Amino acid sequence: MNNISYTKAHSVQEAINNVMENDHAKFVAGGTNLIDLWKYNLMRFNALVDVNHVEGHHAIKEKEDGSLRLGAFAKNADTAYHRLIEERYPLLSKAILAGASAQIRNMATNGGNLLQRTRCYYFYDEHTPCNKREPGTGCSAIDGYNRMHAILGTSENCIAVFPSDMCIALAALDAAVNISGADGERILPFTDFHRLPGDTPHVDNNLQHGEIITSIDLPAKGFAKNYSYLKLRDRNSYAFALVSVATGLELEGDTIKEARIALGGVAHKPWRVKEGEDFLKDKTASRQNFADAAEIILQGATTYKFNSFKIELAKRAIIRNCMMALNPETQLPGAQPSK
Ligand SMILES: Cc1cc2nc3c(=O)[nH]c(=O)nc-3n(C[C@H](O)[C@H](O)[C@H](O)COP(=O)(O)OP(=O)(O)OC[C@H]3O[C@@H](n4cnc5c(N)ncnc54)[C@H](O)[C@@H]3O)c2cc1C
Ligand code: SF4
Repeated sequence: MNNISYTKAHSVQEAINNVMENDHAKFVAGGTNLIDLWKYNLMRFNALVDVNHVEGHHAIKEKEDGSLRLGAFAKNADTAYHRLIEERYPLLSKAILAGASAQIRNMATNGGNLLQRTRCYYFYDEHTPCNKREPGTGCSAIDGYNRMHAILGTSENCIAVFPSDMCIALAALDAAVNISGADGERILPFTDFHRLPGDTPHVDNNLQHGEIITSIDLPAKGFAKNYSYLKLRDRNSYAFALVSVATGLELEGDTIKEARIALGGVAHKPWRVKEGEDFLKDKTASRQNFADAAEIILQGATTYKFNSFKIELAKRAIIRNCMMALNPETQLPGAQPSK
């Protein structure tokens, strides 16, 4: 039996202080990932600091420059169904609603979503070697059953994928993460928040112990007219993505002025390739051009024994999703949120 102390924090500073004073303390928000990890004996802590009562970071607020601030402690469901998100960032709404279940989205918070851990089955099995769980023990997935694993940005130490849906849309939208810690506040561009495994696969992101995510900023440009989120998975609900794609297009007639394409289910972090997006600039919005961009985006992909299908799947997903973004009303039933 492990004794765990529980404290409710009412301010950001109180939450930071409580975690900073104890190397084995953790923040808890919705608890939908943390408590599972604790029950599986994968995450150990002796103190929980509940951030749900911290004031000032639950709302979704419009800023003067037209950008939007998402409180870190707002629930995923409240975010997805918020009027401003539905109207101006439907890509984000759709990505959130493609994830988990209604019950989990009612509990899960925006900050917690960024920090959820991989779903690699070996990571969850404490009887198998895993560099992410126990650094230096080896990676069971590389020569094991690696159907769900990464094809981009992998290392010889870890080929896990980051499982979030919400974060794939946030990466496409060029969001930024607001962080507070003992040394003050800092902002990280979304694409710099999560890390590749390299030789430190146990470190998922660039947040330090005691730092708390207070909010996520969305730039004013939301690609609300031409967007699509496509999640391909083994079951049509309650399953993590094998491959997912978030697309936002800015069009003038049938010419692409700007393209954003982020991939999920293929890497240790949301995956964007600037060259692939730049290739589409000032080109006609055609299947062939999307196919050429997909080739660029998948360049350098590495596959393992059971996941070579992911390269073709990702290319086809990019093409299909970009075509759907031309006419968001035609989105396929499989891509619709389960309310
Ligand atoms: C059965 C199941 C299916 C799921 N399916 C999907 C899916 O298909 N797609 C998807 O995207 N997600 C899915 N999820 C994951 C779910 O979205 C995450 O569990 C959830 O978003 C985590 O949020 P939380 O508030 O519950 O975090 P918690 O579990 O409370 O915390 C997670 C981690 O974040 C830390 N933390 C929390 N908030 C902060 C903060 N503000 N600042 C700093 N640290 C913080 C905690 O210390 C902890 O380490 C699924 C989860 C389950 C259980
Ligand atoms: S892929 Fe990463 S998480 Fe999975 S077994 Fe290998 S080291 Fe562990």
